[in-house]
Amino acid sequence: MTDKIARFLEDRRPATPCLVVDVDMVEDAYLKLRELLPAARVFYAVKANPMGPVISRLARLGSNFDTASRNEIDLCLTEGATADRISFGNTIKKEADIAYAWDKGVELFAFDSEAELKKIARAAPGAKVFCRVLMECEGAEWPLSRKFGCSPEMAADLMVMARDYGLDAYGLSFHVGSQQTDLAQWDKALASVAGLFSVLRERDVDLRMVNLGGGFPARYRAKVPPLEAYAEAVNEAVRKYFGNNIPELIIEPGRSLVGDAGVLQAEVVLISRKDASEGKRWIYLDVGKFSGLAETMDESIKYRIRTPHDGGETGPVVLAGPTCDSADVLYEKTAYEMPLDLAIGDKVEILATGAYTTTYSSIAFNGFEPLKTYCI
Ligand SMILES: *Cc1c(COP(=O)(O)O)cnc(C)c1O
Repeated sequence: MTDKIARFLEDRRPATPCLVVDVDMVEDAYLKLRELLPAARVFYAVKANPMGPVISRLARLGSNFDTASRNEIDLCLTEGATADRISFGNTIKKEADIAYAWDKGVELFAFDSEAELKKIARAAPGAKVFCRVLMECEGAEWPLSRKFGCSPEMAADLMVMARDYGLDAYGLSFHVGSQQTDLAQWDKALASVAGLFSVLRERDVDLRMVNLGGGFPARYRAKVPPLEAYAEAVNEAVRKYFGNNIPELIIEPGRSLVGDAGVLQAEVVLISRKDASEGKRWIYLDVGKFSGLAETMDESIKYRIRTPHDGGETGPVVLAGPTCDSADVLYEKTAYEMPLDLAIGDKVEILATGAYTTTYSSIAFNGFEPLKTYCI
């Protein structure tokens, strides 16, 4: 937690739950990534945190943007990005939305199927396209699984088709899975993609770009390698498989740019036990799965939590949200300990919550307000 966020919470005493995002930390994370991977153009994955001040700061710093919908495109344009710095990176788009983006000046489109490629050829003739290749996502705490991408064999055929449709067969993309903890995954992915570059060269399609997606980490409970190690793994794999013929590189960080910049303050609503003989306390917060902490689904993302009694004796707890849905339990299987002195009414801070929280918050389930966010 930065001094700036601590001071804001102290001075303003905002109603909870609320998320406070320190936009200077987003800037620091962006500049550090640029420094570590200078050859790559950054396309910030807007879905990670689409708050206006985050987008406008990144736009001012020269970032490009990876968007998934009309609204995200409009948001980036409003906040100061130009259309040539926006990629329509969702592989699942309505043809009318492709036409809308093309009309606004967006030139770069993703696809992973023949039907999507045909839509782009019709609605954005001559556009730059890249095909997303399917990855295993092993080692990722928030895997993106089989929903996106196609097999390398299919990707090769589709890129040939893209050229034949009059599109600019620009490159290939992958995503190794979000919060990826296994650095070897980039090596695997780049080996596969470099192989496709060769295959396609033989079929007279000269690709020029590799989009390495996201996957860089935020700081949750488990230790992860430093960002330097990630950059080294990427740089090494690029050199190993492309040698002196390095293509244009794109990265699409989301979590690593905004995750650590956010602190979610919540209040303890209830502390109880299911039986007098049970040691484990149930701690209910005023924030849960439906008010921003959706990534606790399957207990995937394990946040760090600060309390006013840290340092004191602790005991095991189940952590849950405030709604009347029994799915609204944050951690039950994962061992979490909280101070025995924790009391109803105490404020707790859930750290590194700047990514994938605000927009996951439901509108009014059980009448609870969407997560309020302050960008400072
Ligand atoms: C969500 C997403 C990202 C961001 O991934 P992180 O792991 O948060 O960095 C990047 N690219 C695409 C296509 C995405 O959908």
